[in-house]
Amino acid sequence: MAQIRAIRGMNDLSPEQSPLWQYIENQVANLLASYGYKEIRFPIVEYTELFKRSIGEITDIVEKEMYTFNDRNDESLTLRPEGTASCVRAASQLSLLKNQQQRLWYSGPMFRYERPQKGRLRQFHQIGVECFGMAGPDIDAELLLLTARLWKLLGVQDVVSLELNSIGSLADRANYKQALVGFLNPLKDQLDEDSQRRLGANPLRILDSKNANTQALLIDAPSMADYLGADASAHFNQLKAMLDEVGITYTVNPKLVRGLDYYNYTVFEWVTDRLGAQGTVCAGGRYDGLVDQLGGGDTPGVGFAMGMERLCLLLQEVSSIGTELAVTPDVYTVAVGDRVYNKALVITEAVRDDFPTLSIKAHVGGGSFKSQMKKADKSGAQYALLIGEDEVAANKVIIKPLRSGGDQIQLNVSELAKWLQSKLSK
Ligand code: ATP
Ligand code: MG
Repeated sequence: MAQIRAIRGMNDLSPEQSPLWQYIENQVANLLASYGYKEIRFPIVEYTELFKRSIGEITDIVEKEMYTFNDRNDESLTLRPEGTASCVRAASQLSLLKNQQQRLWYSGPMFRYERPQKGRLRQFHQIGVECFGMAGPDIDAELLLLTARLWKLLGVQDVVSLELNSIGSLADRANYKQALVGFLNPLKDQLDEDSQRRLGANPLRILDSKNANTQALLIDAPSMADYLGADASAHFNQLKAMLDEVGITYTVNPKLVRGLDYYNYTVFEWVTDRLGAQGTVCAGGRYDGLVDQLGGGDTPGVGFAMGMERLCLLLQEVSSIGTELAVTPDVYTVAVGDRVYNKALVITEAVRDDFPTLSIKAHVGGGSFKSQMKKADKSGAQYALLIGEDEVAANKVIIKPLRSGGDQIQLNVSELAKWLQSKLSK
């Protein structure tokens, strides 16, 4: 029978790959806890309306990337393409937002119908951070500081750089849009097809076009920086001053706009040149109007999301950490003989009681001493724990070093946990 395969762009994570993911996830979770962030979890499916109203109708995501379907009750549902909208929805529904400050994070799969390639999948995974109730640039700075610290922890600090921009307030952007459309209208015929369509509906998105021709035309376009109002300018200048003071380097990229409609003031991306075209590892910004837009009242917000797949690729680019993290047991139990197997279970369970962090892999399925020893060696364990009829009769076990080349020794069962602890103390 033909084998059923996974959906294109939706990958399995093999047992060899998962240690690297766990390592990154643990580093991030510990770091976020140390800055006072709390985890929130929400469903991977929401009403389609949530994403349309937040991300914006005229964006790549809503126009062509969402997995949208009607359920049996004929309601339009969508697999979440990103986390911010759901996080706002959940936090608001849980009454976490009114007159409060929140520092939240989440992680999990996101779904976008894109062309699968290296660093671009249809089910991909993000760790996202969202802060609510803080309007000043100090929380923007904190988010950038904690990401910078994360890059250091993960050893990728030399291959990522920070791009920063302010896209102003809604009113600032309206003024800028007018100027941009005025500049681009006479060039309309030379723009790529998507950009032509966006000129009427969402001209700022043209700045983000990946089309080289369009990008060339944009070189002389008016710059958002000249259209920032006093408040947006002050916010941006304060943020830059904080980053300068604390020693975070960044490049101001006046064309950075981000692909979602809800941003205002600060936007940023951490980018790398090590992953080809999929160079954005982490991206985010401020979205002061979004909570209100979703019916949650007037609450400022700012956040970012990083792509796990790209982060893993980057770590593997710069280090061998992926292979170093392979998990091997400390001890492999070899038990041969008629009444030995049950006794071996008793012994290994007793050792687990006394030394809970020890990793013991027990041989299962019988077989000769030779074949069990082969498996012990292949397991990568430091020691084989040998239990035979003679040992059981004498209440003893034999420990055979598998890597250090030392001699095997005999121990009383009661001494075993202590001995292993002295050799493998964790
Ligand atoms: P891009 O410009 O690469 O399409 P984006 O602006 O659509 O990215 P965001 O929506 O800001 O990305 O998502 C934040 C991060 O999530 C990205 O920086 C990236 O690391 C990751 N990401 C986004 N889309 C994908 C995808 N299809 N596959 C893998 N990772 C993704
Ligand atoms: Mg995208």
